[in-house]
Amino acid sequence: MAGEPQADCLFCKIVAGEVPADVVLDTATTLAFRDINPQAPTHVLVVPKAHYPNAAALAAEPPLSADVLSTAGQIARLEGIDESGYRIVLNTGSGAGQTVFHVHAHVLGGRGLRWPPG
Ligand code: 5GP
Ligand code: ZN
Repeated sequence: MAGEPQADCLFCKIVAGEVPADVVLDTATTLAFRDINPQAPTHVLVVPKAHYPNAAALAAEPPLSADVLSTAGQIARLEGIDESGYRIVLNTGSGAGQTVFHVHAHVLGGRGLRWPPG
């Protein structure tokens, strides 16, 4: 069922505390933790605690979509990158680089970010 934990999902395991993570912020509905392979001085992943495979599926739950973006904004403030600028990335589909199919927003900042992305 939509939103239910998936036994084979890495980020469900992190949410459950079964896999360790460097947690930056824990809210009622979201968890933010540092990416294990950071691509910028700040690289934090924000996930809904409930399992949705991608952004489009998450959009079926509008309050939860807003919670993920709200947490991303809080991370930017906590990390001190809200003034300099930062990027929120939701890779969607393996062709776009999605490797973990539990929706997650990458919050990237602390260095110059080129456009267009690769
Ligand atoms: P995607 O490629 O799906 O957009 O992003 C998945 C991200 O998860 C990658 O940036 C990758 O470095 C990160 N990642 C993969 N395994 C782990 C892990 O075990 N812990 C943490 N904190 N991040 C992970
Ligand atoms: Zn999951």
